[in-house]
Amino acid sequence: MKTLAELDFDNRFARLGDAFSTEVLPEPIDEPRLVVASPAAMALLDLDPAEAEQPVFAEIFAGHKLWESAEPRAMVYSGHQFGSYNPRLGDGRGLLLGEVVNEAGEHWDLHLKGAGQTPYSRMGDGRAVLRSSIREFLASEALHALGIPSSRALCVTGSSTPVWREKKESAAMVLRLAPSHVRFGHFEYFYYTKQEEQLKALAEHVLSCHFPECLAQPEPHLAMFREVLERNAELIAYWQAYGFCHGVMNTDNMSILGITFDYGPFAFLDDFDAQFICNHSDDAGRYSFSNQVPIAHWNLSALAQALTPFIGVEALRDTLNLFLPLYQAHYLDLMRKRLGLFSADEKDSALIERLLQLMQTSPVDYTRFFRALGDSPAADALKRLRDEFVDLAGFDSWAADYRARSESEGLPQAERQQRMHAVNPKYILRNYLAQQAIEAAEKGDYSEVRLLHAVLSKPFDEQPGNERFAERPPEWGKHLEISCSS
Ligand code: AMP
Ligand code: MG
Repeated sequence: MKTLAELDFDNRFARLGDAFSTEVLPEPIDEPRLVVASPAAMALLDLDPAEAEQPVFAEIFAGHKLWESAEPRAMVYSGHQFGSYNPRLGDGRGLLLGEVVNEAGEHWDLHLKGAGQTPYSRMGDGRAVLRSSIREFLASEALHALGIPSSRALCVTGSSTPVWREKKESAAMVLRLAPSHVRFGHFEYFYYTKQEEQLKALAEHVLSCHFPECLAQPEPHLAMFREVLERNAELIAYWQAYGFCHGVMNTDNMSILGITFDYGPFAFLDDFDAQFICNHSDDAGRYSFSNQVPIAHWNLSALAQALTPFIGVEALRDTLNLFLPLYQAHYLDLMRKRLGLFSADEKDSALIERLLQLMQTSPVDYTRFFRALGDSPAADALKRLRDEFVDLAGFDSWAADYRARSESEGLPQAERQQRMHAVNPKYILRNYLAQQAIEAAEKGDYSEVRLLHAVLSKPFDEQPGNERFAERPPEWGKHLEISCSS
């Protein structure tokens, strides 16, 4: 276990030089206070959880103090936003403080979001509000606990510094951890600005730091692209299987590591709705729930374009064509497990599709359905769930087929329940739960954020006393307009 002072830095991205990032110091926020910290994320840095109680912890993560060996820098990137190319984005309000090497030899980027203006701030104030910082923190740690690849969050610090959005709010910072902050948009930036040497150096950096196994392949760049594609296919399968809607799948928000990245107006589905749009500025529904699959593919083609200096177009096309089958295989695998089907049957896809269609026309809570379906005995679980469906005949026919299929697994009821509950969370981050915790935090009471974080860190466990977090959301809670300003 280490103290904050004992962290070791090895700033590999900073060493790429000024074409890739600009040195910028954090601009502190006033009267820093710790809102919430994640002991599990602290463990990634070998940090003693007690360090979060030290005043210096909030001071560092509010920009007041810095390690001597940190090298805070704002990264430059570009990206396709809602389908249009924006030639220059970059860290407008976040800084890569440096890369910490833990005892296992892993590098973790420390990225402080809300750290003030940078050369990439454009018209922005460089700040993040408490509301969006809490949302990013809770979601990062909650998705990780569900087993969904994600950037992590170490802590949120609040302050008395005012920031203006639709109304006056207070500034906060969230410390994000990830093995890399390289986005698809990094490659696009160097490709479209025709900086060939830098594009090459970026690819070499990513290969050697993040995909060293690809270096042994006959075509390392192609192997890297394939790896990025495979990881993203798996990630999107998780999102679709668990009902997560990202909301802003611009190419600058897509990680080369295939992790959930840059949380904005995201939402988990409450009632199942394939057309659900969580981002209220997304009028055309480009980033609707079901569009996440074709959009991820589209984003990968944007990345492929930026890799054309290294890889033949035919090879890129062939690799891109793998996306859908890879995605489908992962999705089917995850959905089978959610249904308690641990072997494969060729009719499973149709069984899943029929269920989703029934859910689409009924006010069925997506997460609660799967949790309840796992209760034993299965016959009783199905009987209870029946009431939630509008098309009763359709449900009965599905339930009969499902029971027959489920029984063909030959699992004893208790084991079926145990295995299904281990993959079907009882607790997810519903928008209204985040909202309630945020409203308390905005009044200076952080207990609800901390409790919600603790509950979501064990999403599959029964947690006596915390059942209120697993309830069906109230009607108002299903229709919250989450502001896109953050
Ligand atoms: P996001 O919507 O958070 O993914 O941000 C898109 C781009 O806008 C990135 O380049 C951000 O750094 C930048 N940005 C977002 N909010 C601000 C802000 N308040 N100040 C400066 N830049 C910002
Ligand atoms: Mg972003």
